[in-house]
Amino acid sequence: QKLKLFKARLLAENANKAKSEFLSNMSHELRTPLNAILGYTQIFAADESFTPKQQSGIKTIHQSGEHLLMLINDILDLSKIEAGKMELVTNDFRLPECLNNIVNIMQLRAKAKGLKLTYEPGSFLPAVIHGDELRLRQILLNLLSNAVKFTDQGHCTLRIHAETVDNEKSLLTILVEDSGPGICADMQETIFAPFEQAGDRLNHSEGTGLGLAISRKLVRLMGGELELLSPIDKNPETGQGPGCCFSFAIKVPVLGSDVAIMKNTPTVTGYSTSASNPQKILIVDDELSNRIVLRDTLESVGFLTSEAVDGYEVLRACERFHPDIILMDLCMPEMDGFQTTEQLKQNSDYKNIPVIAVTALLPSDEKQQEKNRDLFNDSIVKPFVTTTLMNIIAKQLSITLIYADNCHQEQDDSQESIICPPPKDIEELFTLAYYGEISALLNKTSILSLEESGKYKQFTTRIEELAEDFQLSKIEQFIDKYR
Ligand code: ADP
Repeated sequence: QKLKLFKARLLAENANKAKSEFLSNMSHELRTPLNAILGYTQIFAADESFTPKQQSGIKTIHQSGEHLLMLINDILDLSKIEAGKMELVTNDFRLPECLNNIVNIMQLRAKAKGLKLTYEPGSFLPAVIHGDELRLRQILLNLLSNAVKFTDQGHCTLRIHAETVDNEKSLLTILVEDSGPGICADMQETIFAPFEQAGDRLNHSEGTGLGLAISRKLVRLMGGELELLSPIDKNPETGQGPGCCFSFAIKVPVLGSDVAIMKNTPTVTGYSTSASNPQKILIVDDELSNRIVLRDTLESVGFLTSEAVDGYEVLRACERFHPDIILMDLCMPEMDGFQTTEQLKQNSDYKNIPVIAVTALLPSDEKQQEKNRDLFNDSIVKPFVTTTLMNIIAKQLSITLIYADNCHQEQDDSQESIICPPPKDIEELFTLAYYGEISALLNKTSILSLEESGKYKQFTTRIEELAEDFQLSKIEQFIDKYR
């Protein structure tokens, strides 16, 4: 009997394994030829020797290829979920920055259509949560891109509310609302089924009809339920609506008591520079997801990016792309970020390109910190605040950052007159702020404020003022300017 059970389990396990291998092979098999098609259509699009008719044909091939790629990705996602093979990949990540990035990306599309995209984070959002950042991003991008796609005038809104469940968890309620045509009553449930599309057929070619089906299943994997709330009443004055409102709630583990006030986090929307061309950034990281996040963040602000997956590719990328700055992951197989940067600094052509170390951990020993300071132009610890990264890049490239309307440009005027403590204390303060250790941070500032006849008083008072309002991200940014 036991042997029979064992055999049956083995067979089931093998069948699942085969299914999953088949899916990943199929994914590779389907995507590879499409890469070649899309690669060449891009090359040909820039080739002026083609006639306008040929160019228009190339454009159509490209658009169809992109649509096919979208379909393949969505079908594979859906079959993976249905085969029970989709697993959430969870990590600790910074929620405010993740949401800011998503809003920044969608802001461009909304602006292009003359729509107002508003972002309404609740007063308190957990700064660091444990979850699947890429999948949360996929759900929100899908809901927001639908909101923008189907709305012709008015607004789209992303609203997030966080409620503390206990010391370790927070309930996030997320709403995506728009003032578009809405969805008629009898289609309100059907649209969550694969390939179901409501309304005007003209809009259908833009999507796969799988986004909501996938999003609902992903939200279920996260322990929530994606729903379409009752349509908002039609507004007789503007004639807009009835609009849509999609919502879901998920419980997420929160790390420590680290709480940030989102509204005060400045959002970078662009930059100004004396150079005539966009600034070029080379992203070096062996992890695809890290590269995607950095690429989207940097491109949404107007930088040109290129990528390298290991140290060996960096030199080739420098030759081809001529980056103005390099973001270097330190932990890579074979040739790591240190060795790669050492090689760059020995090369007369590339030694002047600023290299920013992107690291998961601050080195604890003084010697290593010193070594890092000598080798790299600056460094940033993952997961990082987007504005901190932007500030580092701005400093190295001598560019001026442009912030969103609702945020103000950082006040740097008083910075000159502030005397800051030695680097060792700055690093300690930064680490305490980063991990949300407010009381230890205040302890440290009160000690520092008495040292050297009170010459650091202005510096410590600024941190204490921000700490009173619990503005951890701002404290981090403030200290970071002196690192
Ligand atoms: P796709 O957008 O690729 O067609 P989705 O599964 O994301 O597929 O959406 C399914 C259908 O639901 C859409 O085709 C559209 O008819 C409807 N829909 C989704 N979001 C909205 C929205 N915000 N406003 C109006 N209709 C929507």
